[in-house]
Amino acid sequence: MYLTHLECPRCGKEHPADRPQNLCDCGSPLLARYDLAAVARTVVPEQLPLRPADLWRYREVLPVADPRHVTSLGEGWTPLLRAPSYGAEIGVTDLIVKDEGLIPTGSFKARGAAVGISRARELGVRRIAMPTNGNAGAAWASYAARAGIGATIVMPLDAPTICRRECVAAGADLRLIDGLISDAGRRVAQLVGDSGGAIFDAGTLREPYRLEGKKTMGYEIVEQLGWQVPDVIIYPTGGGVGLIGIHKALHELRELGWISDRLPRLVAVQSTGCAPIVRAFAAGEERAEPWADAQTVAFGITVPAPLGDELILTALRDSSGTAVAVSDEEILTDLRAFAAREGLLLCPEGAACLTAARQLRAGGWIRAGERVVVLNTGAGLKYPETVDVSGVPVLA
Ligand SMILES: *Cc1c(COP(=O)(O)O)cnc(C)c1O
Ligand SMILES: [Zn+2]
Repeated sequence: MYLTHLECPRCGKEHPADRPQNLCDCGSPLLARYDLAAVARTVVPEQLPLRPADLWRYREVLPVADPRHVTSLGEGWTPLLRAPSYGAEIGVTDLIVKDEGLIPTGSFKARGAAVGISRARELGVRRIAMPTNGNAGAAWASYAARAGIGATIVMPLDAPTICRRECVAAGADLRLIDGLISDAGRRVAQLVGDSGGAIFDAGTLREPYRLEGKKTMGYEIVEQLGWQVPDVIIYPTGGGVGLIGIHKALHELRELGWISDRLPRLVAVQSTGCAPIVRAFAAGEERAEPWADAQTVAFGITVPAPLGDELILTALRDSSGTAVAVSDEEILTDLRAFAAREGLLLCPEGAACLTAARQLRAGGWIRAGERVVVLNTGAGLKYPETVDVSGVPVLA
């Protein structure tokens, strides 16, 4: 294994990686660091096509030492789908959707769960707890079941009911709360605090390895494009783990010498009903203030106070990216337009990225002919209520 240590991006302190870790003493999330020079000496990108079509093909830059601890349901290596018809309509002729809806548990949360649970298992964790907007809880409950680890999941009452069912099916200890993910987070902190070390807090960015799973989206996009970076990557941002992960992957790829220096411009998409990152980015702030009365159909991005705000804002500025807020009405319109033109039912978070692509192209921020990759972070099938069928005629 090439994992060497954990590093704090805020204060620079280094922490050992051989035991369960949460935040740095300064309150910042920690980042996993590897001996990338040694990886570059051992692996050449030409070898990768011979490996299995899942995220473990990048094992040298993942934090699991013993292959017996790898807990997999076959996650990763999702397709890049060209969207020429919808792309032509919005003036983005080289539009590509990475379809994370095809992954186990129906959302890209499976990437973070697979790697996070595998590492937790390796470090001897017996039970995890986490707050969730639904998909992360479903994914972590499922991978925990497979690893023989207990899972305590706290979820808002409003979260998609399918995620509730997935947790129950996986045998998790599920609790519901009449509130937002931030309220669920406070309850998890209590449970973990009261457990005397028996429960490990696996909340978003509170442990360093979920990010490692999600960064594999960045590796895949680049490998699937023939080791070329696109011009723009658009990501629906809640906790921001995927965005921070893709940014981390791009820097690692550069250090490995597998891509050139140019970075894609990263775009964080939020809903006008919950846009703390967009507001902070526009104001030139380094941190984001909590968003009051958060609400949107794109449930996965309803995160009023993301812990990784600094890292998200850094990724946007470092890549000359931007942040955009889109309305629920437009999200649902684009979701329908895309399904009718391209045949793929997106999740509302994925559709939000298309709304952003359309707006950024109309405003000239995306230029003609640029290659744009959009993340569809989950299966549209998990959100059946986004399509109204009340007007469908019943034949006599
Ligand atoms: C969790 C989630 C997101 C947001 O992911 P972050 O990495 O927390 O920003 C986007 N889309 C879906 C479908 C999700 O479940
Ligand atoms: Zn620190």
